[in-house]
Amino acid sequence: MKLLNFIGGNWVEEAVLQRIPVINPANGEELATLPLSTKVEVDFAVREAKTAQKAWAQIPAPKRAQYLYDIAFKLKDKKEHLAQTLTLEMGKVIEEARGEVQEGIDMALYMAAEGRRLFGETVPSELPDKFAMSVRSPIGVAGLITPWNFPIAIATWKAFPALIAGNTVVWKPSNETPMMAYELAKIFEEIDLPKGVVNVVFGSGPTVGTAMIEHPEIRVISFTGSTATGSKVAELGGKHLKKVSLEMGGKNAVIVMDDADLELAVEGILWSAFGTAGQRCTACSRVIVHRDVKEQLEEKLIQETKKLTIGDGLDPSVKIGPVINKAALEKINHYVQIGKEQGASLLIGGQILNTGAYEKGFYFEPTIFSNVQSDSILAQEEIFGPVISIIEVASLEEAIEVNNSVKFGLSSSIFSQDINKVFKAQQLLDTGIVYVNAGTTGAEIHLPFGGTKGTGNGHRDSGQAALDVYTEWKSIYVDYSGKLQRAQIDNNE
Ligand code: NDP
Repeated sequence: MKLLNFIGGNWVEEAVLQRIPVINPANGEELATLPLSTKVEVDFAVREAKTAQKAWAQIPAPKRAQYLYDIAFKLKDKKEHLAQTLTLEMGKVIEEARGEVQEGIDMALYMAAEGRRLFGETVPSELPDKFAMSVRSPIGVAGLITPWNFPIAIATWKAFPALIAGNTVVWKPSNETPMMAYELAKIFEEIDLPKGVVNVVFGSGPTVGTAMIEHPEIRVISFTGSTATGSKVAELGGKHLKKVSLEMGGKNAVIVMDDADLELAVEGILWSAFGTAGQRCTACSRVIVHRDVKEQLEEKLIQETKKLTIGDGLDPSVKIGPVINKAALEKINHYVQIGKEQGASLLIGGQILNTGAYEKGFYFEPTIFSNVQSDSILAQEEIFGPVISIIEVASLEEAIEVNNSVKFGLSSSIFSQDINKVFKAQQLLDTGIVYVNAGTTGAEIHLPFGGTKGTGNGHRDSGQAALDVYTEWKSIYVDYSGKLQRAQIDNNE
């Protein structure tokens, strides 16, 4: 399959000469090729988006919503096809792929409903015969840069609030997962979304992403990806005075207290640590356990990890699929070697799988280290693979301190039956998301999603909060007194 850019409602045969393959991480097969676009395609896409935005913003929001409802229904019709394609190009197991498509459907429906809200405020004026209100205004053209691990969900978290608020979109998906972008663009075409409202430009981050950030007509950039890249995006965006929303890496922890339901904790840890082969931004990477239950928890974790089947995510019996590519495999292996060298105890796993059925794919065994020091590299850096570090603590206070000791702040979790400990923890854990008696994953789309410290820069995807990224507040004063009334002066007696 030859993927083309989708610009101004057309599939554009690019002038670009260079194409790269899309590889199935389960078996190394080539699935498609995508163009490495340049600034020329970005400029073209922005022109189309800019032209379309004037008319799009004039459509009343409840009518714009109709397009999002149509997208939701199309996504629903195509759910199985999309899920299969997602597993093929990204590797996550089919059950999770279906869940991700559902997230896109939910987001389309949720943001469509925003078309009848988009609440502003009306407040009393300090002067007589004067009316005051604030409304949300679209920013214009929104630039979206997205990663490969949730190629459909993250795109919809960003595109749908942007659209309902009256913006148009130029979107650069990850090179690893362009087929989901292509499928979404096809849906936009099929539902007759006005031309130019969403434009997809394939290509590398440093070329296409940079051209988007530097483009004077893109006033807001919404980025999800690694902290290292996000920092570059922020730097360049700052230079060009852009509004930049960043969702970046994580080093998420599950805290298991001495009064926890251990069976439940094990289930929560394994699902959030090894689901998506540990490649979720919210993946559990550290288990902070009270010393009184550490041994018991470890035994149960090992026992249950042994049962997990690894393989091609299209096989419904498989629980752990491949990681995204060879570089990811090497990065995970690098961290595992560091763990061994620095004296952590390897309880299970630790190997690349590359023989037999695994030969052509990118597979890593689910891996558990124990006796990990909380300030070690293993416990501090994002690995983005199926690797857990167990850290022992003696109290809730120590557990919270360890949780908060990393540079990231996305998700945390506590397993405890004690309501006092739970409330203390939810107050003091410094992450943007906190789970109680569940793992570190499982966000719902109508709540804000994002993190603190090295994970974000104060913005949120999802929920009402997402609208803040794609709108400017406009304050409107209507004076019907028939005379000039001066705020802070004429009423200051
Ligand atoms: P990357 O940072 O490598 O890439 C993210 C996107 O940025 C890709 O589209 C990439 O393009 C692009 N990009 C790369 N360089 C630049 C640049 N110089 N300027 C502009 N854009 C650029 O992240 P990954 O795709 O590897 O995704 C994994 C990361 O994403 C993890 O750290 C994970 O934690 C984080 N993440 C965070 C989430 C959150 O909400 N907090 C959610 C999901 C993931 P290219 O196609 O060239 O790679």
